[in-house]
Amino acid sequence: MSVLSAPLPIDEILPGLIAVLRERSGAVLVAPTGAGKTTRVPPALLAAEIGGGRQITRQIIMLEPRRIAARAAARRMAEEWGWTLGREVGYQVRFERRAGPETRILVVTEGILVQRLQADPFLEDVGAVIFDELHERNLQTDLSLAMARRVQREVRPDLRLLAMSATLDPGPVAAFLGDVPTIESRGRLHPVDILYLDRPDDRPLPGQIAAGVRRMLAATPGDVLVFLPGVGEIQRSAEALADLAAERNLAVLPLYGDLPAERQDAVLRPLDRRKVVLATNVAETSITIDGVTAVVDSGAVRRLRFDPATGLDRLELGRVSRASADQRAGRAGRQAPGVCLRLWPSWEQATLPERETPEIARVDLAGPALQLLSWGEPDLAAFDWFEAPDPAALDAATLLLRQLGALDVHGVTPLGRTMARLPVHPRLARLLVEGQRLGHPREAALLTAFLAERDPFPRSPRGTGPRRASRSDLLDRLDALEAFERRESSMGDLNAGAARFVLKARDQLTDLMKRELGGSQGSSEDQEDSLLRALLAAYPDRVARRREPRSPRGVMVGGRGVRLADESAVLEAPLFLGVDLDAGHSGPLSEALVRKASEIHPEWLPPESLRTAVDLEFDATRERVAAWKRTRYEDLVIAEAEVPPPDAAETARVLAEAAAERLDRALALDDPEVSAFLARVRSLADWRPELMLPRFTEEELRGLLPALAAGRKSFAELRRAPLLDLLQGALSHEQREAVRREAPERLEVPSGSHVRIAYEPGKPPVLAARIQEMFGLAETPRVAAGRVPVLLHLLAPNGRPQQVTHDLRSFWENTYPQVRKELAGRYPRHAWPQDPWNARPERRPQRR
Ligand code: ADP
Ligand code: MG
Repeated sequence: MSVLSAPLPIDEILPGLIAVLRERSGAVLVAPTGAGKTTRVPPALLAAEIGGGRQITRQIIMLEPRRIAARAAARRMAEEWGWTLGREVGYQVRFERRAGPETRILVVTEGILVQRLQADPFLEDVGAVIFDELHERNLQTDLSLAMARRVQREVRPDLRLLAMSATLDPGPVAAFLGDVPTIESRGRLHPVDILYLDRPDDRPLPGQIAAGVRRMLAATPGDVLVFLPGVGEIQRSAEALADLAAERNLAVLPLYGDLPAERQDAVLRPLDRRKVVLATNVAETSITIDGVTAVVDSGAVRRLRFDPATGLDRLELGRVSRASADQRAGRAGRQAPGVCLRLWPSWEQATLPERETPEIARVDLAGPALQLLSWGEPDLAAFDWFEAPDPAALDAATLLLRQLGALDVHGVTPLGRTMARLPVHPRLARLLVEGQRLGHPREAALLTAFLAERDPFPRSPRGTGPRRASRSDLLDRLDALEAFERRESSMGDLNAGAARFVLKARDQLTDLMKRELGGSQGSSEDQEDSLLRALLAAYPDRVARRREPRSPRGVMVGGRGVRLADESAVLEAPLFLGVDLDAGHSGPLSEALVRKASEIHPEWLPPESLRTAVDLEFDATRERVAAWKRTRYEDLVIAEAEVPPPDAAETARVLAEAAAERLDRALALDDPEVSAFLARVRSLADWRPELMLPRFTEEELRGLLPALAAGRKSFAELRRAPLLDLLQGALSHEQREAVRREAPERLEVPSGSHVRIAYEPGKPPVLAARIQEMFGLAETPRVAAGRVPVLLHLLAPNGRPQQVTHDLRSFWENTYPQVRKELAGRYPRHAWPQDPWNARPERRPQRR
């Protein structure tokens, strides 16, 4: 080691670590922040030839969760060992690589190790992998840890895996790495006084920070480290500190991931003035600043989280966890006793989450799933994850990859392999590939950058004048960004910093595409159409159809109702993508709000996802079966027209099904002949169960429907069908004869008239006849093989029942003389004989 380097706590335990790694396949190293893990362990492994040897020169790769820490660590190692950055030691982060063929220690971030595993699945050129800051539980760290462990177990037992952290519970990872030893260094820690606010402060954050810094400067002699959630807050706080800085001769220094290297170094170098460092949580455990004795903690943090609105991961502002706040406080006590001011009251402490949720539990898994599958991992659920993700999240990820065309029944497609080489979310990878294919890579890169980075535009545009219709809210934004770049437009409401960031990301993505996808052919395809098509490729699950022309309401793939937000200018397109989708909080049945939409044309939809079919369905309004020829994208109807029903059998089935629901509307049950027949059969079934007659229950009537519906397509046709024949056909010959005889339609009375009998199930049969027609008959007529006497309605000449009786004999004997007396005077032209037994019955044409 360089003679210039000061001793650090880690030095004492390096010999023990080396000894373990000579014997065992890995280790877990826990030592406080600033102990020297990141900058001293890789050179120590290299010097001891861990994972390498005299014959083979292999690399030591260290995975850092943060870009800034990766660059700083590589620079620091070069400095301490007199190496050249980019030669013996180098780094590779998402869009930047400083390393060469001689590089023995390579510090990487994000997906770089996973990309390396794709290119070199057995890590042939790697002797050891160090997973730094494992407690951050960054998704890429989790993923590459599990991948590297599989490589080690299956093909590379000589590969050394080392997990490092300042705060980790070493048990689980030591077990995961194969029960490897844990080496701990307690290091020197000084007490830190923790101060809280007396009450919540509702001033804007920069003002609170300025007040907090002033208080801390008075409380300690050293430098002040302030934790803020992001660059915007850092800039505003720096402005709020300007007066204090001038007054007290302070150096106010920002520290965040994208800070240029020289300015990073300035933060870490000792100064002759007191420093106030305004940092994101890179300073929590990744970067150590010497001389800090006070910390001001805003209590806020931005973390990556899956955003259902865009289907991508996005940074979200939230509260720190208690574990994080303790780490932040610890930064004040590394070299001397310190103070930490927390900008929240002490009672709020209990409302903070205990610790951070690992990223794998809160971000989209489509990216890792694609990486694992194209690496050759056949079964994501069976993969030996360090911490297994939610199976539902894995399923959702696989489904999306299928929709994006990255997967098919055979596994990862060639397109999927191309996408896996691009270190962006698979949706965005798909967008880039499509933009490249259609000949507009740079514009596709801008679109991708706009979707991936912080939105430079305010949520809803100012001004509420008459709106111009547009094809795409996204292309409108791209136009505005390009105008901003050409300085053609002042863009009063555009956040210039965020816009520059998007434009820079575009340039990096364009370079990446050149490297990974090769040059673009250029194309005659219209640029606007190409970008709209590329967006469709990225959001195949967001296709929606407008319900009516110019209506803001639509229905999306999957059946979900959507409504275009007022701020969307996509007023006309019948088919559109809902790119930015706000599901709201009012439950699953409510409409989702589309904040940004983008037109698509049906002919752009991939033919393999379109299905045209003729649907037969019952139209309840017209009470008929109708056939619709429909073209669907997934489950979304994008075109339909009525056609003649093509299949008679299927038509009959649909009709019968609808009729079963509405027997009363579909069958002519109220037809007099039908209802009379039904009443006779049902009554006789009651009186003579041994005949086993059908009762024509609703169930039995439904059983007749298939036969009735054959060749028909509407209720009107069904009602005209020969239902009576069918009902009769349901009876055997003997049953039909029994009904004819035993539940006769009519009975002959003494006058010779054939009088209709009224049947009603559950009631006696009724025979209504004028008294004069019944002269001479003593016995009440019977039906049902003599079992059931009819109920006689004996009518007066005016047709009204004079007497209702089951017993005709008793009528003649007891009642008739009285009736005769009453009526003979009123109806003198009718016969009222003294002796009805022997009188001749009188036949008159009946009115009914
Ligand atoms: P750890 O990873 O255990 O937190 P580091 O290896 O990052 O510790 O740093 C160990 C010590 O080396 C720090 O406390 C700091 O004093 C010093 N150091 C590391 N990097 C730099 C740098 N770029 N400039 C100045 N000092 C540094
Ligand atoms: Mg470190």
